[in-house]
Formats: sequence, structure tokens, C-alpha cells
Amino acid sequence: MAGPTALQDASAARAAHEGILRRQSARESAARTYARALPIVPVRARGLTIEGADGRRYLDCLSGAGTLALGHNHPVVLEAIRKVLDSGAPLHALDLATPVKDAFITELFRTLPPGLSGHARVQFCGPAGTDAVEAAFKLVRAATGRSALLAFAGAYHGMTSGALEASGHASDVRVARLPYPQDYRCPFGVGGPQGAELAARWTESVLDDPKSGVPLPAGMILEPVQGEGGVLPAPDDWMRRMRQITADRSIPLIADEVQTGVGRTGAFWAVEHSGITPDVMVLSKAIGGSLPLAVVVYRDDLDVWEPGAHAGTFRGNQLAMAAGTATMAYVRENALTERAAALGTRMLNQLRLLAEEFPVIGDVRGRGLMIGVEMVETGESGEPGESEEWGVGAGPGGGGGVGAGGVGSPRPVLPRPASPALAAAVQRECLRRGLIVELGGRHSSVVRLLPPLTITDEQAAAVLDRLADAVAAVARDHVPGSGRQQQRRRRSGG
Ligand code: PMP
Repeated sequence: MAGPTALQDASAARAAHEGILRRQSARESAARTYARALPIVPVRARGLTIEGADGRRYLDCLSGAGTLALGHNHPVVLEAIRKVLDSGAPLHALDLATPVKDAFITELFRTLPPGLSGHARVQFCGPAGTDAVEAAFKLVRAATGRSALLAFAGAYHGMTSGALEASGHASDVRVARLPYPQDYRCPFGVGGPQGAELAARWTESVLDDPKSGVPLPAGMILEPVQGEGGVLPAPDDWMRRMRQITADRSIPLIADEVQTGVGRTGAFWAVEHSGITPDVMVLSKAIGGSLPLAVVVYRDDLDVWEPGAHAGTFRGNQLAMAAGTATMAYVRENALTERAAALGTRMLNQLRLLAEEFPVIGDVRGRGLMIGVEMVETGESGEPGESEEWGVGAGPGGGGGVGAGGVGSPRPVLPRPASPALAAAVQRECLRRGLIVELGGRHSSVVRLLPPLTITDEQAAAVLDRLADAVAAVARDHVPGSGRQQQRRRRSGG
């Protein structure tokens, strides 16, 4: 009897794929996120590529929400995991000392900013980024005896309650919210160094005005590049100002490098761009080499904790430590930070050219291989910024990246309305073309690229080609002004 034909194989694979997706939507929580926009069933993955159960292949620029510095299943990561498995070492070790953990700490400390590496302590937490954020808050509260915290509009620090309070969508008063500098949607309407300076002055005045309503805080937490907040790189000068302002007032500065760490932004840690040394660093995602791991690293004089002050059953994941050690060493030995910086700059430049062609792109920004393309509504004729309601257009891609923006502009730069619908459409069109991208930003209007640092020039070109094609398709089908009409209808309850 003849075996199944290729056609039968393909249709069986498609049926399996659809069955899994159907069961997922019937059985998993309504809170699921990526699974809604990306109806794929990954069964194999290597580097930038994912293969679905239906046999389709995708270029993955989501990278586990920025976790996979070396892409999927990198050989050095697999080898490190296999070595632990074959050695008979315990896989679970609480916070006991092990050779695997010892090697991880040595590699981690080797990468730290010089001001921290000689005086660092590390606390292993529960395995998520949000666990490390909670631990950092607990640490600075213990060290200062204060309780309030400073955080920034648009921040994302995680989903446990303390981390949520410090994230942009919370409304709690224990955390005072400060403006984060940004060019395209600058809260002061000026962008550039001037906008960042105003943001810094606001921070100073909140701290120094005895009637600001904000007590002297236990710490300030910031992301050197806001990721979920829409890919907003903080200007280096502003980072230095925050360091100065906090140091002058004995406020520990916590850098959340959960997403920016391990070379992603073109420096091993994103704080290195500005040369500052934070008091505390919160690390997760890439440090586990694709497996769950989170730590808080801090200056030793903050180490006031009593034994057991912070714990977590899963703080001794040996496989994650081995995978993380291999990842950090590979990034260091292969100069992948420099690679991320150079390739990221090239990709940003190419995307800015795309923005000149398509007014639905309001802004292109990023640092290293953390890239965002903000989708916006156009005026009625499809041109940017021509009607009063749209404001004065920044020009396509006008916000720029670090340090670019409105200084010297004749008029304040007002952004066009964000378009979550266009961003979702671009994500869908990308998926149709075999490209997985992330969405983010305050209005979910930013198409995000977080490719692995190992992406080749040819792969980067393929990513940009598919993205450009997707944007062109969306722009072609877009009815200018339709977003505004929808907004009007929503406002009037229609
Ligand atoms: N901080 C930042 C900057 C993040 O981007 C994230 C996750 N996107 C977190 C904290 C929370 O990490 P986790 O989802 O592992 O809790």
C-alpha cells in the first residue's frame, strides 16, 4: 500500500495546528496576549526562525519578548544545558552554592558597569523579571527606611502588585509618577534635549518642593529604554541628570534592565551609554539564556537584609544559570553589542526612509536592536499634519532616536493621533508574510522589532523587506481620516 502523499501530510499538519489553536481558545485564560495576535503553533525553532505545526516558517522578531539574545536554540546554549544534564548535577538547588551558579556569578559580575562590579552583591529571586523588581523595592525600602517610590509615566516593570504600581497603567499613590523624556509625544510639546531638560526639572521640583505631596522616596526605578512603553530611549544627558539628582538626595537609583540587558541596545547594559552607575540593577530575560531566571544586583553597602528577607523556591534554576552563562559569554566574546549597535543604526535609517514614503508611520526610534515604528492616523488626504486637529506634523519619522527632536524647531512638534488599528493591521500583514513582530507603546500603536543579536545582514534585509511590504499593504487599504471618525464615534458613544 502506498504511504500518505505530501498533500495528505500537509492537510494532516494543518488539521493538527487548527485543533491545537481551537483547544487553546477553549481552555486557556481570556488574559492570553501574544496567542491572540499570533495564531501559530511553534514546533521547531532555530536562530531567527520558527516553524509552525502547519509547516509554515516565520522570522521571529519577537524573540520571547526580548529574551532570546542568541535566538532560538543556539548551539552554545543547548550545549551548556546538555552538559549540566549529563553531569548528574542537581537541577534544583534553592540558594545553595553550586559550580554552575559560581560560574554564572563570575560571568555576570565580569559584565557589570565598573562602578558596581567591584562592590556588587547578587540576590537570586523567583524566576520572573517582576520578582526581581519586587526584591529591589524591598531592598531599597530596607536600606533607606522609607517607603515611597519614584517611577515614570509609560513604565513597565511587571505584573506582581509592587511592580504594577510602578508601571504606567497603575493609579496608586505610593508611587509618584514622573515624566519620561520622549521626542515624538513629548509631554511638554518640545521634544529633544529641551524636553528632557524640562522632564528633569520637574523631577527636581517634585523632590525639593516640601508641598509637592511626594515624600523623600526609598528609590527611583527607571528603564534606560522604555520597551513596553513604546521603545523610548532615554537621552544620555537625562540619565546622567537622574543619577545626579538621586545621588544628591541619597535616593537609590534602580535600573530595570530586564529587557535592555545583555547587548540588546548596543551596550552590554543600557546604562553604559550614559556612563552612569546605578545603585541597583534588576535583570531577567536574556540572563537566563531562554530559561527563567531573575536577579537583583546592588552595591554592597545596601545589603542590609536579614537572612530570609527575600526568598523564592525557584531561585536556583541550574539549567537557566548554565544557559545564561553561555549566552553572556557568547555575547561578550563575539562582540555582539557592537554588532547590535551597528546593525540597529542601519535598520533605523532604512525604516526612516520607509517613513518618508508612508505617512502612516509617525515615528521611527530605537537603540541597538530594540526598534519601534509608531503607526499614526493621517489627515484626510493621507498627508501628515495638514489639518488643525492633527496638529503640526513632525514630518515622517521626525521624532528620531536618542537626542533627536524638536530643539530649534520653529514651532512645537505635535504628533498625529496614534493608530492601534493600523499597528495591528501591520502585525497581521507581517504574519501573513512570515514575520513575527511585537506591538507595544502607550496606545498599542508601536510595531516593535526585537531580533536576536545574532541576526545576519541577509536576515535583517528579509525582515525589513517583509515589514515594508506589510506597511505598503496597510497604507494602500487605509482610508485616511477613518481613525479620526472612529474616535469621534467612540467618544459620542456611537
Ligand atoms: N521590566 C521590564 C523592563 C520588562 O520589559 C518586563 C517584561 N516585559 C518586566 C520588567 C517583567 O518581566 P516578567 O514578565 O518576566 O515578569
